[in-house]
Amino acid sequence: MEYLRNLYLKSIGIDYLPGSMSASNEQTEDEAPGFETLQQLRDNIGDCRRCELSQGRSHIVFGVGNPDADLVFVGEAPGRDEDIKGEPFVGKAGQLLTRIISAMGLTRDDVYICNVIKCRPPDNRDPLLAEIEMCEPFLKEQLRIIKPRAICALGSFASQTLLKSEMKISRLRGQFHDYYGIPLMPTYHPSYLLRNENAKRDVWEDIKMVMEILDLTFPRQGKS
Ligand code: URA
Repeated sequence: MEYLRNLYLKSIGIDYLPGSMSASNEQTEDEAPGFETLQQLRDNIGDCRRCELSQGRSHIVFGVGNPDADLVFVGEAPGRDEDIKGEPFVGKAGQLLTRIISAMGLTRDDVYICNVIKCRPPDNRDPLLAEIEMCEPFLKEQLRIIKPRAICALGSFASQTLLKSEMKISRLRGQFHDYYGIPLMPTYHPSYLLRNENAKRDVWEDIKMVMEILDLTFPRQGKS
């Protein structure tokens, strides 16, 4: 019955409704390596040499924030600043993300922040398919361990990777999608916002929907 309902909802263009869970998108036992904590997962990653990105990186950028967070932000890959510091979203785009988080009435310590790819691609090029395939299981495991109540995917790369979709971010954003039973909101990447002031309004609309689903109240108008 649930399956038919989801099929019908998908056919009319609705990917996710609060309280619904797509049967076809359940995470199976086989897929879950089964770490209990983020630290155990981090220890397993170790001084990763699984792909070529390891050769040019300074630090593995695993993720930061609350391991019990209700909300996880997922970006693309570390840039120069993140590679130097070993922390996601600390450069210009990161400062904008921090302002968005504080406009939600939260701090970086309340949420969890990570990327699909844990090492910086050279010259900030797009990650290759082989690199994604190597690194994505760690993200999947992070999300399985944290079990957030909502995910916000930043930009087309994170959104398309998590949703296994080729749809443009402009079409994906603005509504929740299902990620193993967790509502996932795609929105524009903060780096895009730095170049396109006008898109800030759309991002704030998306963020307000995330706040609503998390029962967060509005501390102040979102002007970041
Ligand atoms: N862009 C990302 O996608 N992630 C970061 O950590 C920094 C910039």
